Amino acid sequence: MERELLAANLERVRLELAEATEGRWPVPRLVAVTKTHPLEDILPLRELGVTDVGENRVQELREKLPALAENYTVHLIGQLQSNKVKYIMESVSLIHSLDRWSLAREIDRQAQIHGKRMPVLVQVSPAGEPQKGGMDTAEVPGFIREAAKLPGMEIRGLMAVMPDTRDEDILLPLFRGMRTLFEQIRDEAVPGTAITELSMGMSGDYRLAARCGATMVRIGSAIFGPRPPMHP
Ligand SMILES: *Cc1c(COP(=O)(O)O)cnc(C)c1O
Repeated sequence: MERELLAANLERVRLELAEATEGRWPVPRLVAVTKTHPLEDILPLRELGVTDVGENRVQELREKLPALAENYTVHLIGQLQSNKVKYIMESVSLIHSLDRWSLAREIDRQAQIHGKRMPVLVQVSPAGEPQKGGMDTAEVPGFIREAAKLPGMEIRGLMAVMPDTRDEDILLPLFRGMRTLFEQIRDEAVPGTAITELSMGMSGDYRLAARCGATMVRIGSAIFGPRPPMHP
């Protein structure tokens, strides 16, 4: 991919993020979503100031390591099967998709084997779309109180994937609801947690997410252009 095009796309995204926060919030951290893109397209991002990349599939992430981990802070943003946790312990800096107790137990177990404490976000399903992963909003505070007792992980905040729509009347209340839940969890200050991150906003809706107080946005196609169809 042309470097000039990458640079122009990044500049536009950064400008729009800054505008959308309106000076009300800090500009969210950009996690460039690199799934389906080859390393030769990903590595130039570094010179353009990108520090964080996200992948959604463990298999693909493993194929791209260690080049990714050498150059970037790596995020696992997609649904995670418990039996794959062991493959990402060394290289991933933040798991965005903790959404069930069995996965919490396995992250805790593997982290202890590796002698580390794994930073995680709890994935919420604000519109009740279980196929996208995430737990119901109502379950989140109780889950965090329990999961915070596991010594192998540190809960850093919340993540959400919004419905596939451009309709602001649908999205705005969902983003605002996430921000409210984030502040509630943060203010509860459950011992063992360090709640600083609210990961929400993708290529179609990052402006709205930034306007509503996201601290991290996960952006793929607005940087790289549309993805080829996914292989099953
Ligand atoms: C693919 C993906 C993104 C980025 O999607 P774009 O629409 O290309 O920006 C963000 N979050 C998750 C969980 C994803 O799987």
